[in-house]
Amino acid sequence: MSGNKEQAFIAVKPNGVQRGIVGEIIKRFEQKGFKLVAMRLHQAPVDLLEKHYCELSDKPFYPKLIKSMSSGPVVAMVWEGLNVVKTGRVLLSETNPADSKPGMIRGVFCIQTGRNIIHGSTSVASAQKEINVWFKPGEVVEYQNCAQDWIYE
Ligand code: UDP
Ligand code: MG
Repeated sequence: MSGNKEQAFIAVKPNGVQRGIVGEIIKRFEQKGFKLVAMRLHQAPVDLLEKHYCELSDKPFYPKLIKSMSSGPVVAMVWEGLNVVKTGRVLLSETNPADSKPGMIRGVFCIQTGRNIIHGSTSVASAQKEINVWFKPGEVVEYQNCAQDWIYE
């Protein structure tokens, strides 16, 4: 996989969908120059969410996390581009919105950790795992972005 083909799993959580922030989040990844390669509005079943958050199953906040993630539909997405996992986390900023860098998504659109509106993969390996949890083979689309040469040197 070439550097520009790195993929991140990004999801607008149910409270981000309910609050009408989906467009704002998509806009930030689009305007950065990343390429949208998969997207689905999905009422996630609990077993899918348990796979997605399996590393956190022993945390005290895990039950309420699963409950809030299943409280309504999620917008599940895959974004592609150079260092998209690391840069995606910069765009999201800190888990606790109170610690978010100025202007970044969790700093601008939310207040509390348990209502932080967006998920983003933390490593290339976890991104691949998450993409496989949320999308079937073939649902992640390969296509040429006409702006490619205006984004990358
Ligand atoms: N979370 C929470 N309380 C905590 C830590 C995390 O409710 O003390 C929730 C929060 O919604 C967070 C999610 O659990 O986004 C997953 O936690 P993680 O540490 O992976 O943070 P993230 O990668 O989402 O920044
Ligand atoms: Mg995480």
